[in-house]
Amino acid sequence: MNATDSLIERANKVLAPNYRQQPIAIVRGQGSRVWDADGKEYLDFLGGVAVGVLGHCHPAMVKALEDQARTVWHVSNHFYIPRQIELAEALLARTPFARRAFFCNSGAEANEVMLKLARKYHADQGHPERHEIVACKDSFHGRTLFTVTVGGQEKYQHGFEPLVPGVRHVPFGDVKALEAALTDRTAAFIVEPTLGEAGVIPAPPGYLPAARELTRKAGALLCLDEVQTGMGRTGRWWAHEWEGITPDLMSSAKALGGGFPIGALLATEEVGAHLTPGSHGATFGGNPLACAVALAVVGELERGVLERSREVAAHLHERLSLLVTGGRVTRVRGRGMLLALVLQGVKASEVGRRARDNGLLVNPIGEDVIRLAPALTLTTTEADEAALILGAALAAAPSGV
Ligand SMILES: *Cc1c(COP(=O)(O)O)cnc(C)c1O
Repeated sequence: MNATDSLIERANKVLAPNYRQQPIAIVRGQGSRVWDADGKEYLDFLGGVAVGVLGHCHPAMVKALEDQARTVWHVSNHFYIPRQIELAEALLARTPFARRAFFCNSGAEANEVMLKLARKYHADQGHPERHEIVACKDSFHGRTLFTVTVGGQEKYQHGFEPLVPGVRHVPFGDVKALEAALTDRTAAFIVEPTLGEAGVIPAPPGYLPAARELTRKAGALLCLDEVQTGMGRTGRWWAHEWEGITPDLMSSAKALGGGFPIGALLATEEVGAHLTPGSHGATFGGNPLACAVALAVVGELERGVLERSREVAAHLHERLSLLVTGGRVTRVRGRGMLLALVLQGVKASEVGRRARDNGLLVNPIGEDVIRLAPALTLTTTEADEAALILGAALAAAPSGV
């Protein structure tokens, strides 16, 4: 038995069976490449689910982590944490609408506090009846009970009822439906600029500006979930910059720590001020290790990685678009380094399996979407290599869905 098979056998005995892992065990990574337990090399276009903006073991992240590991790891928010203050300053400097940052450990947690704060903001002004959260069908906001209720995918709710009351769903991209759903009981509308887990579906043009206008008119807050789309993933710091709008609240996680767990809520002064002493907290939130690594990520993006990624992403997009002529890709969706191939006549899982066999890791979603979230440090050579492997995988996969 090879090393991979024996790891899978052990995993199947001891791990909760909640994940559908691809059948490889990754033991090492460098840049956009990883190696499995039997020494096979892969180009990583799954990117730890859109986390690895700087690729694996980027020297700046390694140095930040090592330096911090020798200094202090964890002290709790019973004290001021210099790295946390620096990170807040760095993020807020790149997020003009926001004046307040709160740190936690994941995307779900960042959304949890975003939703809690939206309710508290209105409750504090004497309007506890303004507690409804409007969210989109097919959206994904995390796996806590509140975020799974707000997320628009029933398959993630089954068995966990009763869900959190006061949540309603509207079709993503439908301005009329949103307008009808916003009332004087609405606390906030929460939306992803691009539906990530649903298969990289960008908001239709005009939808987010309309959402901004409608929430303002209705006296409700606009909450953007930029957990997947933020930190340069779409070619700008935040995806909402493409739309020329600003939210009241925004969540970030995934790429924020480049692989070290950290989440953040960024808020306007007006709303952020309502996160009053004692109202919310997280033991590990914004601890020195996490903030040191996130600072390294912000620094690298700023020092040319984000800018260079736009050119490579444009090249990748162009190369992937050529796959359409093969007849099995109907289009390429997304922006920057968050892309999806939409397939026809062939199963995403079959294409994914063949790509993996040929040394490329991708993320099949549902029956007909392949999500690609490579590092922003990807080179054009690596982009070409991935496009070639995908082309071959598409051609080799059996017909049928
Ligand atoms: C991944 C994701 C989350 C959840 O983040 P976790 O860190 O897994 O809790 C929330 N929202 C969006 C848009 C995501 O892509």
